[in-house]
Amino acid sequence: AKSDGSRARIEVHDGVLSDSDVDQLQLEADLRHALESDELRLFYQPIVALSDETLLGYEALIRWQHPSRGLLPPGAFLDAAENNRLTSKLGEWVLRQACFDAAGWPSGLRVHVNISARHLAEPGFAELVAAALADSGLPPERLELEITESTALFAADATLQAVSEVTDAGVTLALDDFGTGYSAITALHRLPIHTVKIDRSFVADVVTEPSTAALVQGLVQLGLGMGLQVIAEGIEDLDQAQWLRDHGCVMAQGYAFGRPAPLPTRECADEVAGREALPAAVLTDGTV
Ligand code: C2E
Ligand code: MG
Ligand code: MG
Ligand code: MG
Repeated sequence: AKSDGSRARIEVHDGVLSDSDVDQLQLEADLRHALESDELRLFYQPIVALSDETLLGYEALIRWQHPSRGLLPPGAFLDAAENNRLTSKLGEWVLRQACFDAAGWPSGLRVHVNISARHLAEPGFAELVAAALADSGLPPERLELEITESTALFAADATLQAVSEVTDAGVTLALDDFGTGYSAITALHRLPIHTVKIDRSFVADVVTEPSTAALVQGLVQLGLGMGLQVIAEGIEDLDQAQWLRDHGCVMAQGYAFGRPAPLPTRECADEVAGREALPAAVLTDGTV
């Protein structure tokens, strides 16, 4: 059988495609197209010091400026990328663009980049990070990679090797959504973690729910006790900020301090695997 989805060029040799299969394949094809035609954007959300709201850096958060559906959040399309080889192309684009952007910021500011488990596990990941840093001129100390607990937990030996190559070079690692995984403590032991980011689902209830408050207090103490940086995610109001400050948390991110927003970006030579580097004239033309 052959589907009629000509844009996606779906071919099925046996079996039947369900509607959701077709949707998935269409989304993959559209996303592939989006990568090639400059529809992806990085938005940046400030990370601040809780004591005086000093800006410390930004987390890069991907968006898709879809031609007909408008600005899409990662939840609307990242899963489609996770199921196929788009993962590494998308991950490479994010990493390179974030490094090029951050290289143009004041030198005190760091950039946080989310890394998917699949991408981290791919051969050549450490080399990719090294190339993004070298090509952009961003010092390694200004890059922090955010991984989730499940990534850390299921990390294979090859992944651990890639991680230590990257951290040996000076890049730091944050454990994202801290507290939501099954074994946060195992993750902290297996990987050279520098920062934990307390998940916003906990922060949301910290002022109103005594049991959540106790949990967050424990997470902050665990992080501090291990000598880690602790960032509270998803702070939406000043009561939450005050509570976290009072309980020893030093850094924060959330709508109370700034929403993700576009920042000026720098031209980023796109050397995705298999594609020749293009002359600068072609790149500035936007015809990549
Ligand atoms: P995350 O890394 O935990 O990022 C924080 C998410 O919380 C972002 O959602 C951010 O917009 C949202 N957020 C921040 N402060 C607040 C707040 O005060 N209130 C509320 N309600 N939300 C807040 P976003 O941008 O939709 O991203 C969702 C997730 O998608 C991220 O969670 C991350 O896991 C993933 N993601 C985003 N960009 C990338 C990327 O470039 N690569 C990969 N692999 N994953 C990404
Ligand atoms: Mg993150
Ligand atoms: Mg998070
Ligand atoms: Mg999250």
